[in-house]
Amino acid sequence: MPTEVYELPDLSYDYSALEPHINARIMELHHDKHHATYVKGANTALEKLAEVRATGDFATIAMLEKNLAFNVSGHVLHSIFWTNLSPNGGGEPDGELATALTDTFGGFEHFRKQMNEAAATVQGAGWALASWEPIAQRLIVQQVHDHQGNHGQGTIPLLAIDAWEHAYYLQYENRKTEFFDAVWNVVSWGDVEARFKAARNAELIRQT
Ligand code: MN
Repeated sequence: MPTEVYELPDLSYDYSALEPHINARIMELHHDKHHATYVKGANTALEKLAEVRATGDFATIAMLEKNLAFNVSGHVLHSIFWTNLSPNGGGEPDGELATALTDTFGGFEHFRKQMNEAAATVQGAGWALASWEPIAQRLIVQQVHDHQGNHGQGTIPLLAIDAWEHAYYLQYENRKTEFFDAVWNVVSWGDVEARFKAARNAELIRQT
């Protein structure tokens, strides 16, 4: 099997592009160090699982499967997070996404409030995540623990807000709610809308 299944994606903007809302040093460390560690961890977990398959000694499988879930999920959420952000972001969504937010949450402001509350009240590390739930054909907000916990199977992530301390502490210190307020100034609604459009084609339960 190839040794590098997962690769760290480049950012489409400079580290300083999201200032003053997210400073360059946070972006540099967050992308080049933290995200890179999850990519490496995901590849390592796959390699170790290949080894235990080859030897037939599955004594470490529970740990390896946990490492796989943590690191793959970390890679997925960070990859989405970077593209959810843009120096040209901010404002509010329009079109079908705006309509869906109104139908589901009672409007954009109610949605934003729920996302910020979910982010601010994570116990330990986690994410606030807006997802498409294909069975009910509905938007939901989830409070993800670490990268992989407390997450509904089959839901498709649309907008991820990183609530780990590494996402804000160098700039905002203990004032994390200021970070969660500021991040909306750089949300790329074009990216979220494209994800929303694609997600609605997903079919978890096949109609026969
Ligand atoms: Mn992070």
